[in-house]
Amino acid sequence: MYRILDEVVPHLPQNKPTYLMGVGTPANILEGVERGIDFFDCVYPSRNGRHGHVYTNHGKMNLFNAKYELDTRPIEEGCQCPACQHYSRAYIRHLLKAKEMLGMRLCVLHNLYFYNHMMEEIRDALDAGKFAEYKKMRLEGFEEGKINSKRS
Ligand SMILES: [Zn+2]
Repeated sequence: MYRILDEVVPHLPQNKPTYLMGVGTPANILEGVERGIDFFDCVYPSRNGRHGHVYTNHGKMNLFNAKYELDTRPIEEGCQCPACQHYSRAYIRHLLKAKEMLGMRLCVLHNLYFYNHMMEEIRDALDAGKFAEYKKMRLEGFEEGKINSKRS
């Protein structure tokens, strides 16, 4: 996908917005923005949320994992979304395991908040001329989470 974007985007009109349909993960969005994409749409935050997969600054978590059974922390420390403000990982996991719809809704709510917040940060980084640093910092955070989750 990145190779195709590198080939195609330079030939698109520069005075019109560029849309990449069906993309993607947070890392895909960062790579797309770097290649000149202006907007995206994707089912990931909602579909993955319904399966208990939530995005964080340190990568993706699966709240069905047993290690969250007694975890009283929010999905992401410092996240201002209503799910993180009021519910623990353990409670959301319990809701998911019990097939209570609220569990899926809270995960989707967090994911949509996460994506919206990241897009705000991307716009701010672009306005400040600091997108490259922002992207590097974000991707390192996602990778750090992958390494830490393999260790635990
Ligand atoms: Zn949250």
